[in-house]
Amino acid sequence: MKVLDGKKVSLHIREEITKEINKLNIRPKMVDIQIGENPASDIYIAGKEKAANQVGMDFECIRYSADTDEDEIIKKIKELNNDKSVNGIFIQSPVPNGFDEIKLMNTVIPEKDVDGLTYLNAGMLLNNKESMISCTPNGIMQILKFYKIDVESKNVVIVGRSNLVGKPLMNLFINANATVTLCHSKTKNLDKITKKADILVAAVGKKHFITQDMVKRNSVIIDVGINRVDGKVYGDVDYDGVKDKVKAITPVPGGVGPMTITMLLYNVLKAYKIQNKI
Ligand code: NAP
Repeated sequence: MKVLDGKKVSLHIREEITKEINKLNIRPKMVDIQIGENPASDIYIAGKEKAANQVGMDFECIRYSADTDEDEIIKKIKELNNDKSVNGIFIQSPVPNGFDEIKLMNTVIPEKDVDGLTYLNAGMLLNNKESMISCTPNGIMQILKFYKIDVESKNVVIVGRSNLVGKPLMNLFINANATVTLCHSKTKNLDKITKKADILVAAVGKKHFITQDMVKRNSVIIDVGINRVDGKVYGDVDYDGVKDKVKAITPVPGGVGPMTITMLLYNVLKAYKIQNKI
């Protein structure tokens, strides 16, 4: 069984990003907008800032209290859209109740939408056109590419249909000529479907949801889950239970997780190049 090491892939891509930034002698900048207080978001934002600085990018977090008027934030996003020194903008999710996250996200112009979640970028991906691609799904495709795991004509099963992970990932696999089945909480006989997967992706948000009896022998397992239980992080896949049956698997932590911030950096550099016609 091969462990698909997301940290290793991430490091490789970050080195490439750093090299390109140095070669072009540029300093791309991203701006994070955080509304309200959320300790988990604070950790994630600190991770993004550290990673950005390490590859040679500027990072700014603009913080608003949860009682800020939404129109004030919309006005700020529009200002950032027009600010040539800013290359990437993203809205830290989740936003507090009472804010329209979709509206805030779609206020960001597509060229600066480094999360790849605006309707336009999602639609471009659906149509297999060059776009900003959502970071976690793109990170999964990069892991498969790095380990030379062929996707074409494979049976891919994704469990989870979120706009953030499952749906964009489905499009990436379809665009790469895989045959895709997308499952969710209303799917019947899930284990019969997952057992047919050459590549099985779990993006459910439930600790050890995928068990040994649900996976095909010699398949590839991608575990997107980050489930915090009693201070420990668990994946959606029962890693110890399935590891002797499968050909390759991403661990949690250290699999898909490290790729998300890396692909965000990748998108900021891409945004810079598009905006500056490089
Ligand atoms: P989400 O929006 O909560 O979506 C969960 C999906 O799982 C939904 O489509 C849901 O179906 C489906 N589901 C729930 N129970 C199910 C069941 N019993 N059988 C089949 N499907 C079921 O979650 P998400 O944002 O996609 O995230 C999924 C997991 O990935 C979470 O643990 C999250 O923390 C993690 N994550 C990790 C990263 C990373 O960087 N590694 C990034 C994003 C997310 P319905 O649509 O029918 O409700």
